[in-house]
Amino acid sequence: MTSFRVLLAALFLSLGMPLAAQPAVTAFVRVNVLPMDSERALRNQTVLVSDGRVQAIGSRLSVPDGARIVDGGGTAWLLPGLADMHVHVGTRDELALLLANGITTALDLGEAPNAMVGRTRAAVARGDVPGPRLFVALAVDGSPRYGHLVVATPEAARWAVRLAKANGYDFIKVYNGLSPEAFAALVAEGREVGLPVVGHTVESLGLERQIAGGQVMVAHLEEFLYSFFRVPEGADPNSAPADSEIPRAIDYLRRTGTVVTADLATYQTIAAQRGRQDVVDAWLRLPEARYLAPSDRIAWRGSGYVRREGSLATRAAFLARFVDALADAGIPLISGTDAPTIPGLASGFALHRNLAALEAAGLSRYQVLATATRGPGAFIASTNPEAERFGTVAMGQRADLLLVAANPLDDLGTLQRPLGVMAGGRWHDAAALQALLDAIIARYAGATLSQ
Ligand SMILES: [Zn+2]
Repeated sequence: MTSFRVLLAALFLSLGMPLAAQPAVTAFVRVNVLPMDSERALRNQTVLVSDGRVQAIGSRLSVPDGARIVDGGGTAWLLPGLADMHVHVGTRDELALLLANGITTALDLGEAPNAMVGRTRAAVARGDVPGPRLFVALAVDGSPRYGHLVVATPEAARWAVRLAKANGYDFIKVYNGLSPEAFAALVAEGREVGLPVVGHTVESLGLERQIAGGQVMVAHLEEFLYSFFRVPEGADPNSAPADSEIPRAIDYLRRTGTVVTADLATYQTIAAQRGRQDVVDAWLRLPEARYLAPSDRIAWRGSGYVRREGSLATRAAFLARFVDALADAGIPLISGTDAPTIPGLASGFALHRNLAALEAAGLSRYQVLATATRGPGAFIASTNPEAERFGTVAMGQRADLLLVAANPLDDLGTLQRPLGVMAGGRWHDAAALQALLDAIIARYAGATLSQ
C-alpha cells in the first residue's frame, strides 16, 4: 500500500500536479464555532468533517482513529468560509489569492475565460488546483460597447441562455444596453433551463421593471442611483438622492425578495481615485499589490476613473447610509467587490476592504459577516437548488470553513490572517496558504527576468 502511494505520488509529481492526499476524516478540536445561523457562539467544540461535508458538531464527540486533528487550543474560532459574490477571475493565481484570503466561494460575474469556466473549475473541484468553488455568470448586452456577448433579439437571447447552460454557467448577467424584448426572453429561457438572471441596470427598463420582470439580484449598490432613486430635474449628475428615497427601495426589495450585492468598498474605491493619480499610485505600493498580475498593474496605473470629473463623495456617503438601512431592514445582502477590475481592489484582499467598509457604514459585525457567509449561502440555495449548501457551520453543509485566531464578532481584522482554510473538505493550513502567495510573487519575478 505504502509503495503504491509513493508510486502514485511520483506519478502526480511527474505530471506537475499537486497530490491532494487528504485523510478521510478531519477533526477540528477545541475550537469555538460561529455557526452563522444566528448570532451565537458555541464554545470548545469538536467539528468532524468527511466526504467534503460537516458530519457532526458537539462538545463531547469522540474523534475517530486516523483522523487528522486540527487543534484550536480552546482559543481559535471556526466559521463558514467567506464568499465574494462579485469577482472577475481570469487565472489560477487569482483563485489562490481568494483562497489565501479565506474565500471558499466566489461568483464570477462575466468575462471569465472559457478555460476557467470549464477545465480550471473542474480541476478545483477535483482538488488539483487550490481555489474556492466558483459560480459563473455569462454576461450579455445589447451592444458591443463593453465587449460582452451581444444579444440583439429575443431569439439570440434564448440561444445565449442555452449556450450558457450547455457550457456550465450558473447565471445570466444582464448589462446596460439590452432591449426589453431580449431581457424578457433571457428571463423566460433562464427559468426554463434553471439559469437565473442577475446583473446591472438595463437602461431600456430600469431596476423596478427588471425586478418585476424576474431579475433576482442586483450586482452593485450603485445601480440604484442610475434607475431606482428619483433625482430632481437638472440636479448635478454626481449629487446623491434624498435619504427619504430609501424606504421606497426597502419596500420594493422586501416585497420582491430581491438580493442586493453590498459592494460598498467598490464605489468608495472608484470615488477615492477621481482626479487622483497619486491615490492609485499609493495603492500600487500596498503589500497586496505585489500579487497583481502585470496586466492588472498596468490597468490600475492607467485607471480611467482618475481622468473623470467631479467628486463622488456625496454619493459614496449616501450608499453607506443606504446599505446600512438595507441591512437593518433585513434585505438579503451579499458581499461583492468587482476585484480586480476596479483599480485599487486586489483579488481576495478586496473582500476584507469591503467588510471593513460595511462595518464603518454602521452594520453590526454579525450583519457584516452574514453578507459574506449565510447571505451568499441562502442566495445560492434559492437560485441553484442542486448546489451543495454552504454559508453556515451545520451538519450536512459543504465543508467550507475558516479558522482564525480571535472572535470575528470582536474584530473582523482577524479574518485577514487565517490559521487555515478548508475548501470543499480540503485543508490548507497557514503555511500552505503562505506558500500559495509566495509562489505568485516568485512567478511574476521570473516573468520580469525573462523579459
Ligand atoms: Zn463586475
